[in-house]
Amino acid sequence: ALTAGIVGLPNVGKSTLFNAITKAGALAANYPFATIDPNVGIVEVPDARLDKLTELVEPKKTVPTSFEFTDIAGIVKGASQGEGLGNKFLSHIREVDAITQVVRCFEDENITHVAGKVDPISDIEVINLELILADLESVDKRYAKVSKLAKQKDKESMEEAAVLEKLKDAFANEMPARSVELTDEEKKIVKGLSLLTLKPALYVANVSEDEVSDSEENEYVKQVREYAAKEGAEVIVVCAKIEEEIAQLDDEEKAMFLEELGIEESGLDQLIKAAYSLLGLATYFTAGVQEVRAWTFRKGMKAPQCAGVIHSDFERGFIRAETVSFDDLVEYGSKPAAKEAGRLRLEGKEYVVQDGDVMEFLFNV
Ligand code: GDP
Repeated sequence: ALTAGIVGLPNVGKSTLFNAITKAGALAANYPFATIDPNVGIVEVPDARLDKLTELVEPKKTVPTSFEFTDIAGIVKGASQGEGLGNKFLSHIREVDAITQVVRCFEDENITHVAGKVDPISDIEVINLELILADLESVDKRYAKVSKLAKQKDKESMEEAAVLEKLKDAFANEMPARSVELTDEEKKIVKGLSLLTLKPALYVANVSEDEVSDSEENEYVKQVREYAAKEGAEVIVVCAKIEEEIAQLDDEEKAMFLEELGIEESGLDQLIKAAYSLLGLATYFTAGVQEVRAWTFRKGMKAPQCAGVIHSDFERGFIRAETVSFDDLVEYGSKPAAKEAGRLRLEGKEYVVQDGDVMEFLFNV
């Protein structure tokens, strides 16, 4: 399963946020997982479309889809020098598929800031620099080999050297690999290096309780937004402390609490959605009278693979998939009505499943 790693300097609110995640996850029903790594938090993906389908179909049960966050503890500074625990920090990051960086944007005299004062940009730079230095090392090593062959006019090596040079330039300017525009061909070339700064990333600005409803006024949040924009990264504003409280409430209480605070959607819910999409994940639905359910697939997956998310037999014996988009189903009110209107499609093996498709798979056993 794909996972988004949570990183950040000490005392920025990582554990508080991760607690919120695990508490929210603990409320969620029937996970098929027997034991879960304590560093992994499983969250349900909030999806209003699932509620709508439930209204429409009135099934016996509704099951949302879920995915994982991984808490990456460890020493950040000096990590690229391989100082003990720091090294571990980098290897944990290497294992995740996207990076969620928590940044402290709240003032609190009682909570020590490792750098002495709240300064989100400098915090971000400390972490990003460690990742960049680690990547620079990987690229330099590879470059030493490749450039020799490139000098001998080996075509592949020349191409690779050119890409590596682009990356080195970015690193010299303290920019992450993800900020470098690469063609699909070039992406293939650098894939083997599993660069840390090539992983998609987003920033979580952790603001204080009294600023959460008016967070765009927060100077620190503005700074983070500006910084993130340069690398095209998204920023989600949360108050980790409040999220921890919200995570223990049921849906109704949660809605009331959020209204009191003047927040439309909880920061954690926004974060879950953003991380899900950052990981390149999307959702299709099955909608039967027994069960309405959301399923996760990777964008670009074809119908048989998506069927395989439910069960490998579905993939092996795949014949076709009766498909209707969520919007069409809602517009026509039922599958038969959508069919009548010509909106129910029979899709074959080559169909690339779209986010929001409502599917029924036909397969041989
Ligand atoms: P970590 O070291 O990054 O895991 O940070 P923690 O989650 O342990 O938080 C450090 C301290 O900051 C704890 O005392 C938290 O209660 C506090 N804290 C975390 N988030 C917030 C917040 O949104 N507002 C305030 N006022 N304090 C927070």
